[in-house]
Amino acid sequence: MKEECGVFGAFVQGELETKVFEIAKTVLFHLQHRGQEAAGIVISDGKRLKQHKGIGLVQGVFANGENYKGQIAIGHVRYSTRGRSDLLHAQPLIAEYLGHEIAIAHNGQLDNADEIRKNFEKQGTIFITRSDTEIFLHVLTRNLRKPPIEWSAKEIGEIFSKEISGSYSLAIATANKLMIFRDPKGYRPLFYSKVDDNYFFASEDSALKIITPEEIDIKEVEQGSYFEISKETIEKGKFSESKNSAHCFFEFVYFARPDSNIFGHSVHVIREELGKLLAKEKPVEADIVVPVMDSGFSASLGYSKQSKIPLELGLVRNHWVGRTFIKPQQSIRQQSVKNKLHPIERVIKNNRVVLVDDSLVRGTTMKEIVNMVRLAGAREVHVAIASPPVKYPCYWGIDIPTSEELVASNKTIEEIKNEIGCDSLAYVSLKGIKELLGDEYEKFCLHCFNGRKK
Ligand code: SF4
Repeated sequence: MKEECGVFGAFVQGELETKVFEIAKTVLFHLQHRGQEAAGIVISDGKRLKQHKGIGLVQGVFANGENYKGQIAIGHVRYSTRGRSDLLHAQPLIAEYLGHEIAIAHNGQLDNADEIRKNFEKQGTIFITRSDTEIFLHVLTRNLRKPPIEWSAKEIGEIFSKEISGSYSLAIATANKLMIFRDPKGYRPLFYSKVDDNYFFASEDSALKIITPEEIDIKEVEQGSYFEISKETIEKGKFSESKNSAHCFFEFVYFARPDSNIFGHSVHVIREELGKLLAKEKPVEADIVVPVMDSGFSASLGYSKQSKIPLELGLVRNHWVGRTFIKPQQSIRQQSVKNKLHPIERVIKNNRVVLVDDSLVRGTTMKEIVNMVRLAGAREVHVAIASPPVKYPCYWGIDIPTSEELVASNKTIEEIKNEIGCDSLAYVSLKGIKELLGDEYEKFCLHCFNGRKK
């Protein structure tokens, strides 16, 4: 399973046409936490699409001063969930149909991708990639037998609502227009800002803040809605009236940046509340609270405030190493853990430590951290996880492994505790999350925790 990414889109006019590539690069840099395997930008100069993409981090991919001018830009940072981690699968993908180009950048994952792919293959269609993203293009060309410059976002939305199921925050560029779509259940976040006559779209509002003046609102793209922006038209509409939302709760737990506000909430505040909940539900006697940096920080702050146990910097993170969870192979993942976190012995020695982390997926990272903290002289190591046990894989775009690899899917909490070698192990309860979210609980997908598909 695979695809957690960040997308960007822009339609600009006048002087900004010379700066749009730079703007795209800046926004992608601020979406880097959503994908570190590849990055790419496509610019339309009104006639042709020009592209630069590569494997690696944004700064590396665009290190040679590439700079294309144009009115339309789309961009992408990728973490593969479906499809290989190579340049062919780096996005945006560009294709040509009836003599006209189309580029597409996608955050999400389709749950009927295999079925659609099989049907196309039966009819003789060849796929270039294993990515879900290519499926959008085949579905569109089958339905819209005309050049992409004549496609409208309204008709595309209608096709999606009939044929595509799953999560997608999508940016599409043709030579003459930018089109943006967010799936009917709003699994992944997507935002926009309008600055004079310029429109900017990005997966998280924190990335748009960099290019949007403070007095201008950054708004959420409504679920099931589209934008079509060209020289001639600015059209915005709904292609689905579904009232059933499935906002990904894991965006709060791990993926989104703490300074983002997604699904109507501050990511930092939700994480802090989860930490408080943990301390309330499963208190332990300890001397210090140590965050597993960086993603465990907000929750540990909440844990410390609630428990009155002082928060200490007992683990330092090397920021030059990528995020552990979003590395595609287990061997790379384990190596990253050792390189990533370093204990401060003066803080840890002789103390009873509560280690707070956002989630426990495979358990391999935490096992090493617990060992590291014990070697640094901790008297006791208690692990507090600011989310419920992850028991089920995700089919909507987060790289949660198969059930066999998920430590909580076939082990009790006591068995997990023994496996990772800590003195106690606590998770936030689903009941606690339900109380925290109140009436909004039903708007969230928590399938990886409770097994309920929405
Ligand atoms: S299953 Fe989990 S990770 Fe996937 S969309 Fe739902 S909450 Fe998010």
